[in-house]
Amino acid sequence: MDRRKFLKGSALGLLALASPISISAMGEPTRKTTKSGRLNLSFRPNELKLRHAFNLARSSRTTTPDVLVEIEYDGLIGYGEASMPPYLGESIPSVMEFLGKLDLTQFSDPFRLEEILAYVDGVAPDNRAAKASVDIALHDLLGKIMGQPWYKIWGLSPEKAPNTSYTIGIDKPDVVRQKVDEAAPYKVLKVKMGLDNDKELVEIIRSKTDRPICVDANQGWTDKEKALEMCYWLKERNCLFVEQPFDKSMIEETAWLRERSPLPLIADEFLQRLPDVIRAYQVYDGINIKLMKSTGMHEAYKMAVLAKSLGMKLMVGCMTETSCAVSAAAQLSPMVDWADLDGNLLIANDSFDGMKIVDGKVTLTDLPGIGVKPL
Ligand code: MG
Repeated sequence: MDRRKFLKGSALGLLALASPISISAMGEPTRKTTKSGRLNLSFRPNELKLRHAFNLARSSRTTTPDVLVEIEYDGLIGYGEASMPPYLGESIPSVMEFLGKLDLTQFSDPFRLEEILAYVDGVAPDNRAAKASVDIALHDLLGKIMGQPWYKIWGLSPEKAPNTSYTIGIDKPDVVRQKVDEAAPYKVLKVKMGLDNDKELVEIIRSKTDRPICVDANQGWTDKEKALEMCYWLKERNCLFVEQPFDKSMIEETAWLRERSPLPLIADEFLQRLPDVIRAYQVYDGINIKLMKSTGMHEAYKMAVLAKSLGMKLMVGCMTETSCAVSAAAQLSPMVDWADLDGNLLIANDSFDGMKIVDGKVTLTDLPGIGVKPL
């Protein structure tokens, strides 16, 4: 019996409503190869061009380095991506070097996720975005073999996916007003803070709209008393939460602020992977899970389950990245309180069609895997 027939007849195959043949008929990308029965990894560098210069408290840039990944198995292709905003410490050369060390052809069963991802994780420490690119491509491949999107495989209800926030970066007043106009379809605005003119930025936004905002200080606040005053000021201006108020090392100040703040504090730069959830639990009200930090969907899902079981608030975010990685993160979105999945909307050269924001809400499709098609 060939492998595909075996899978279709197996317990996993019973999940599949569409066979790989019907997936192909839907226009999903396939590659005509002889059935190798092996995982074949390929990758190429990619530069994301940003629609606006991306200004954070500590940096500014107009492009983001990126690597696109494919894993082929018996003619089906799973797509993945590593996005490397510079502050995370990875680069196109480091990701290419890491991926070049991998030999996935040693694996003949793509369903051995734990085994394959443990191998990838063990090749070198760190390299979280590089690892995420393999994890995402593998999930996309598995979903295509099963004929199901991951939110269904995880048992999630797509109508529970939240609105996404849309980021208004630090900028000149005229540019901020223009960005608020551009953000008209979005029901929540995310405001990047951490400079002296934080209140001015919010006042400009409030002069244009009363939609709820969430604030990301990106570690930019330094004084706990001022931070507390700012939390009360923001609470009066329909702010939902504050993300990463202080430097990730300022644990005592964060705990002090959390005890007093009228707004929930969400950890972002503070945490990366599964063991960090417990550390965050002690000083934050919630966590922002991102695939480029968590090494991909497998660990992100575990983080979400753990954080929810601890009663923490949950947010899923992204880097500036294509619809590939954003759509992969969106599969988790029915589990979270807040989504910040606008990374694909901030770039001018998306190479995938995937998850859509409809009327401000994360909207998942029935496309299998991570739900994308290459453009
Ligand atoms: Mg953040």
